[in-house]
Amino acid sequence: MRKKIAAGNWKMNTTPAQGTELAAAIASRRNEAGNDVDFIICPPFTHLTEVIRATRGKGVAVGAQNCAAEPKGAYTGEVSAEMLASIGVDYVILGHSERRQYYGETSETLNRKLEMAYANNLTPIYCVGEKLSEREAGKHFDVVKAQITEVIYNLSADKLARLVIAYEPVWAIGTGKTATSAQAQEIHAFIRKVLAEKFGDTADTVPILYGGSVNPKNAAELFGMPDVDGGLVGGASLEAESFIQIGKSFR
Ligand code: PEP
Repeated sequence: MRKKIAAGNWKMNTTPAQGTELAAAIASRRNEAGNDVDFIICPPFTHLTEVIRATRGKGVAVGAQNCAAEPKGAYTGEVSAEMLASIGVDYVILGHSERRQYYGETSETLNRKLEMAYANNLTPIYCVGEKLSEREAGKHFDVVKAQITEVIYNLSADKLARLVIAYEPVWAIGTGKTATSAQAQEIHAFIRKVLAEKFGDTADTVPILYGGSVNPKNAAELFGMPDVDGGLVGGASLEAESFIQIGKSFR
């Protein structure tokens, strides 16, 4: 049985006060979804301490949206995995398409970021996904396979067992355009096959989340697919009501 996960990526939204209020609202209602659904919220760095305080012991884990590729030192503006772990952060989103696109993150950087995350007991939520032009050219399987083999294939099997993958087609992120459940299932099954080619049965234990305009209306159909283990949710995670409804969408 794989974990069922509703993860919220708040991106660069909310002030710390608004974020803490949102986190408290999510924590107060998360039981509506039952204990077999894991809730994770990923606020901006500035909110983490307060959000951790507001959710502690309430069944909502907290993740960061990024971490540095180096352990410490002269890297102005960076936040290390050790710093995140030391305040009680459990997860870290790595390789989000916005970071690949706007901040030039490559497989080389991401290998080092994953290493930092694991060294500090953070669970990476590793994002993969193709651009619209790549899907239209029929290259989406190749793109996603490279994003897996260039980074995830470098992990040991025990690290793979502590990984969450998010498939997020870039054309569906923040656009209101969602992949169909069939499209999501097709590529999630493909990702699992690529993982199995290297790691065997451990591939079956890795949660693979779908991300890209998930909302309370489309979540149940997406999450009903056999290889879709939940969602990484942007816009709809910024309101407790819609995020909780998404968390309740597992069958
Ligand atoms: C995301 O950024 O991870 C995301 C999926 O955003 P949205 O749900 O807003 O498309």
